[in-house]
Amino acid sequence: MGYQDTKLFINGRWQEATGGKTIAVVNPATGKEIGRVAHAAQADLQAAVAAGRKGFETWRDMTPAERSGIMRKAADLLRERVDSTATLMTLEQGKPLAEAKGEVRAAADIIDWFADEGFRVYGRIVPSRTNLAIRQMVLKDPVGQVAAFTPWNFPINQVVRKVGAALATGCSMLVKGPEETPASPAALIQAFADAGLPPGVLGLVYGDPAEISGFLIPHPEIRKITFTGSTAVGKQLAALAGQHMKRVTMELGGHAPVIVAEDADIELAVKAAGAAKFRNAGQVCISPTRFLVHRSVCEEFTKAFAKHAQGLKVGDGLAAETQMGPLANPRRVTAMEGLIQEAVARGATLVTGGQRISNAGNFWQPTVLSDVPATAKIFNEEPFGPVAAIRSFERIEEAIAEANRLSYGLAGYGFTQSLKSADLLARKVEVGMMWINMPAVTSAEMPFGGIKESGYGSEGGPEALEAYLNVRSVAVMNG
Ligand code: NAD
Repeated sequence: MGYQDTKLFINGRWQEATGGKTIAVVNPATGKEIGRVAHAAQADLQAAVAAGRKGFETWRDMTPAERSGIMRKAADLLRERVDSTATLMTLEQGKPLAEAKGEVRAAADIIDWFADEGFRVYGRIVPSRTNLAIRQMVLKDPVGQVAAFTPWNFPINQVVRKVGAALATGCSMLVKGPEETPASPAALIQAFADAGLPPGVLGLVYGDPAEISGFLIPHPEIRKITFTGSTAVGKQLAALAGQHMKRVTMELGGHAPVIVAEDADIELAVKAAGAAKFRNAGQVCISPTRFLVHRSVCEEFTKAFAKHAQGLKVGDGLAAETQMGPLANPRRVTAMEGLIQEAVARGATLVTGGQRISNAGNFWQPTVLSDVPATAKIFNEEPFGPVAAIRSFERIEEAIAEANRLSYGLAGYGFTQSLKSADLLARKVEVGMMWINMPAVTSAEMPFGGIKESGYGSEGGPEALEAYLNVRSVAVMNG
């Protein structure tokens, strides 16, 4: 299947933007335009919100079993379409086809889990203190129509975690998808449409992000905002939502510490952190970024990690042998250049990589820097690219202090064979998600989210549904 232009999905049908404006979609492996995406005008947003209102009224009044049936059907359709959907994703986002297929399959599993969890949105009956004829009920109701803003790094996964929770709780959702990777979220929405989702329950728009958020967040029909992206943009959107007293979930940036203790299994650390580091060319919010390695094993670890980086096959994600694709857009290439140059100027050693590969596409060598000063930009700003920055430490407490120094608190990794150190890392590293002696493993049933400036709210586990529910107290006196 060839790459096709993406339209807006409003009231259950695909349509061009009013006025016909479109935005180019570029293949990051070639730098060439492969299609266009419709750029919503305000009239389109108005129509989408109005449809979302009707969609909410329909969906809210359906039973959990009816909702679950449609969701599970959508998951099955997505599984049937893994190959075609993953190809679209690789063409527009750049990740290797195997990673894209994994993302589509994981999305189907996420939908199934939320479809089941929708049966478990329970209230409570609480005995009255004064009169047993009073039935005190705790009711949980869907918040209403939700506006979701999702980024380009996981074009389907970032949408499906929001859509799954919204649909399971009876909410409708209007998604502002990523303009750089519009076709894969469209394929996800199409699966729901084909599964029989009533019109208006899900909408999908693209356009000018600031214009769309500026319109949707204050809109009285929108009752909740959910955003995944950078901390800087998240703060702006949360501030706007605060002015209108809207519920908010924020999945923001991170700068994940990887603490490799003196007693770590180095081979395991290199394998697990290496796979996590270069997955999706490092454009992952939970990507390992600040490598803190005990002085006694730092040289051994750095050498082995550099060897791992050098062994990776970088190329077009559609090629079978590719292990790492291009960066998703030229902004990331500029960012890599700047961060690496600045670190080296401050005294870091470039162990491997550090260069752009070819002039076509946004390819960057898997890069390892050692002796990186904590003052270097790369140790303070989220790199969001295939660069591992390493520095050494003497005492584990020192590494924990460095891990907690930044205002981010999303993901963390630890490698140690000592139970005492593992426990210390589990308790003391201030992150929403911590993996010890293993790569990052996420699932629908485990909470996914950050603390500190990495955001609030969770996109996994029962907590993900709570974020889409109003809690109400109702008491009824019988006789
Ligand atoms: P950016 O800050 O320009 O945009 C990040 C995301 O926010 C994009 O999806 C964009 O469409 C959206 N956005 C920007 N302004 C918005 C607004 N006013 N209203 C609504 N949405 C808005 O950065 P970028 O160059 O696209 O991405 C690079 C940075 O973004 C990275 O360094 C990383 O920190 C962050 N990012 C994080 C994630 C994540 O998974 N948490 C995903 C993608 C990007």
